[in-house]
Amino acid sequence: MTAAWLLWLILGILLIDTLFEQLLSWLNLRHHRPELPAAFVGQLDPDKYARSVDYHRANYRLGTFQTLLSFPLIFLLIAMGGLGWLDTQLWTVTDRPLVHALSFFGVLMFAGDLLGLPFQWYRTFQIEGAFGFNKTTPRTFWIDKLKGWAVSLVVGGIVLSVLISLIGWLGQNFWLWFWLFISLFLLLVNIFYTTVLLPLFNKLEPLEDGPLRQQIEAYAAKVAFPLTHVYVMDGSRRSTKANAFFSGLGRRKKVVLYDTLIEQHSPEELVAVLAHEIGHYKKRHIIQSLVISVLHMGVLLFLLSRFVESPLLTEALGGTGTSLPLNLIAFGLLYSPVSTLLGIGMNVFSRKNEYEADQYAAETYAAAPLSSALIRLHGETLSNLTPHPWQVFVHYSHPPLVQRLEALQGGSVASAS
Ligand SMILES: [Zn+2]
Repeated sequence: MTAAWLLWLILGILLIDTLFEQLLSWLNLRHHRPELPAAFVGQLDPDKYARSVDYHRANYRLGTFQTLLSFPLIFLLIAMGGLGWLDTQLWTVTDRPLVHALSFFGVLMFAGDLLGLPFQWYRTFQIEGAFGFNKTTPRTFWIDKLKGWAVSLVVGGIVLSVLISLIGWLGQNFWLWFWLFISLFLLLVNIFYTTVLLPLFNKLEPLEDGPLRQQIEAYAAKVAFPLTHVYVMDGSRRSTKANAFFSGLGRRKKVVLYDTLIEQHSPEELVAVLAHEIGHYKKRHIIQSLVISVLHMGVLLFLLSRFVESPLLTEALGGTGTSLPLNLIAFGLLYSPVSTLLGIGMNVFSRKNEYEADQYAAETYAAAPLSSALIRLHGETLSNLTPHPWQVFVHYSHPPLVQRLEALQGGSVASAS
C-alpha cells in the first residue's frame, strides 16, 4: 500500500463515519411523534412531552450545524497535509521529541477546543437556558473551561510523556509496559475520582442525618452493602438535571447524589435509584467493565505497536521521516471503525446490565418507586422517549425508558408469582 492510498483510506473512514452519525441523528429526529406515546398517558404532562420534542430538534439543528462547519475543516486539514505541516514546523521550534510531541498534541487539542467553544456556549446558554436547565453563569463556564484545560494538560501530559518515553526506549515493545502503566493509572483515577478530581469542579458534602439517610442505610444493611460515604453534590450550580453515581473500588466506595436528584424525588424513589446502583456492584458489572476495558486497551496498544514506527503513516498525513505524533493520529483514525464496532458491543453489554440492575432493585427493594423515579428523571430532563432503534443499538448505554418500564412490570409480576 502506498501513502496516497492510505490517505484515501483515512479520508474515506472519516467521511463514512460522519455520514453514518448524521444518518443516525436524522433517523432519530424523524422518529419523534408529536403526541405523547400511549405508555405515558396519565404519567407525563403532554406539554412537557411537546417541549422535549422541541428540545431534541434544537439540539439536532445545532449538532448538524457544528458538523457542517467542522467536518470540512478537519477533512481539508488532513487531505492537504496540514498535520504534516504542523509536525514539520514544530521541529523548527524544538529538537526534543518529547517537547515536540507534547506541543503537537497541545496545539491540536487547544485548536479543537476553541473550534467547539462557540457551540458549547450556545448549547449551554441558549438551548439549555431556553428550556430551563441551565444554572451555569458565564463565570462558572469560564472557570470550568480553565480548570478543564489544566486537568487535561496535567493528565494528558503525564500519559503522553510516559507513552513517548517508553516508545523512545523500547521501540515496538513499549506496548506491554504502557499497558501496565495505563491500567494502574485508570485504577488510580477510579479510586481518587471523588476525593481529588470531582472536588475541583464541585462541592461534596456528606448527606446529613435524617429520614433519607436512615432509609438508605437501612436498605444498604439489608443487602449487606458496605456503604460508608454518601455525598451530596451541588449539581444545581450548573444544571437542573439530576444524577447519581458510585465511584471508587472496594472499601473506598462512595455514593454521590446530586442535590437536584434529592429535591426532585421522594426518599423511596432515591433508595430505589441507589438500589439500582448497588445492583451494578452486586452483579459485578463494574469490575466486568473494568476488566473488559483493560483487555481492550491491551489489544489496542499491541496493534498500535505494529504501526507506531511506520514511515508510511507519517507520509500519508503529509510528514517526512517517521513522526510519532502523526503515526498516533493516523492509527487513531484507521482504528475508529473498529472502536465504533467495539463501542456497539459495549453498549449491548451495558444495556443488558441495566436490565439486571433494575431487576435487582425490584427484587431487593421495590419496582414501583424505581419506575416512578425513572419516569420523573426522563420527564425532568426532557429525554427522548421514542429514540430510533438504530440510534439505541449504536449509542445507547441504557435501554429506552418504555422498555425499562415494561421489563420492570414484567419482572415484578414474575418475582411475585
Ligand atoms: Zn445503571
